[in-house]
Amino acid sequence: MAAAPTAPAGHRSDFDVIVVGAGIMGSCAAHAAASRGARALLLERFDLLHGLGSSHGDSRIIRDAYAKARYVPMVRLARRLWADAEAESGYRVLTPAPQLTFGPRDSASLLAAVRNAGAEEVDLATRWGGAFRVPDGWVTAVSEHGGGVLNATKAVAMFQALAVKKGAAVRDNAEVVGIEKGAEGGVVVRTSGGEVFRGAKCVVTVGAWASKLLRSVAGVELPIQPLHTLILYWRVKPGRERELTAKAGFPTFSSSGDPPVYGTPSLELPGLIKISCDGGPPCDPDNRNWDAGDKEVTERVARWIEEAMPGHLDAAGGPVIRQSCICSMTPDADFVIDFLGGDFGEDVVVGAGFSGHGFKMGPAVGRFLAEMAIDGKSKTAAEAGVELGCYRINRFDGNPMGNDANKDY
Ligand SMILES: Cc1cc2nc3c(=O)[nH]c(=O)nc-3n(C[C@H](O)[C@H](O)[C@H](O)COP(=O)(O)OP(=O)(O)OC[C@H]3O[C@@H](n4cnc5c(N)ncnc54)[C@H](O)[C@@H]3O)c2cc1C
Repeated sequence: MAAAPTAPAGHRSDFDVIVVGAGIMGSCAAHAAASRGARALLLERFDLLHGLGSSHGDSRIIRDAYAKARYVPMVRLARRLWADAEAESGYRVLTPAPQLTFGPRDSASLLAAVRNAGAEEVDLATRWGGAFRVPDGWVTAVSEHGGGVLNATKAVAMFQALAVKKGAAVRDNAEVVGIEKGAEGGVVVRTSGGEVFRGAKCVVTVGAWASKLLRSVAGVELPIQPLHTLILYWRVKPGRERELTAKAGFPTFSSSGDPPVYGTPSLELPGLIKISCDGGPPCDPDNRNWDAGDKEVTERVARWIEEAMPGHLDAAGGPVIRQSCICSMTPDADFVIDFLGGDFGEDVVVGAGFSGHGFKMGPAVGRFLAEMAIDGKSKTAAEAGVELGCYRINRFDGNPMGNDANKDY
């Protein structure tokens, strides 16, 4: 086992690594740090497993069809780490599925996603009982083992339980309001309840609150815009319920047409299927307008269903269940994984801006963040061929769009 970081001489730290924010990223980072033998503390502002951030709910897609090739090795690593965590905990959180990717043939990012996944053209007239109807000439490609559904809240709980098993302390209802440099090195973390924790290092994974917290504690401006995003469940037409299940081999899917729609097989709620649309209106995570834009989004998805899956789903009755979530968007939809820098140097590591596609990567990102805090760099990323340079904060210096203006990941 590699050594945990040691505090500078004369400095007393209560913890080696303090992780702020217990969504999927913070929970995975705390587990990864504790697994290295570090004394880890995970602090969460609300109740554990609350529904106010980005990591709650019953399902998230894992898929290898990524237009940006840089994410492919990260997904592969994450898949391996999901399996390791399932084996370590005895929980099952990932249900494998094929991944169906479809959209107009002139979409360069769609073609790149298909290529990067090694997906193969499939005849939608015959596959999956002809459930999908798409315009002639569209690309319809399947990656047979590339998809899957992650049980989101259960997965977060799994990593929190594993972190505790490895010796981490977990505290909820502990809102961090201050992160300061320790007088003798390390970091001092303060909560709104007046508690003070000293750590050699701090990992900040506060989701939609990242810009606010880092502005207030370090004066750093991160271009991360929270969006109010809807999760919608629709009723499967009577007699079709079994065909659309994960058990029957129904895929996770994403359509890059207009609107950009994604869905998961019927799994967590029998007789219902999750089909939603990317994006949503900007929001303030502390002052939510809970039904902003909902009517427009549900109408767009209902229209898509009527055109693309008319024989199988009942769109006319509207969605049966609506849940709210937040996507924390960067201008290029790429993650932020970096040291905070400035006065904090490498003492504070930031994981933020997961732009609506981070959940699947949680175990990989958590490992990177923990290794950056403990070792100053991530050996796991290097070994997996994940280039972390493109997730640095300074990509936005004098360059508001960051890596590129193409948000299609
Ligand atoms: C509708 C929707 C669908 C999605 N679908 C997919 C998908 O299919 N596949 C996929 O890979 N990804 C998907 N995502 C994205 C994914 O869910 C997120 O990228 C991921 O959950 C982000 O996790 P996080 O830990 O960064 O943020 P969060 O889960 O929000 O965690 C941050 C935590 O920090 C806490 N916190 C905030 N401030 C403080 C403070 N001051 N002190 C202490 N704690 C604090 C918050 O309370 C919160 O618990 C989706 C997101 C949404 C909204």
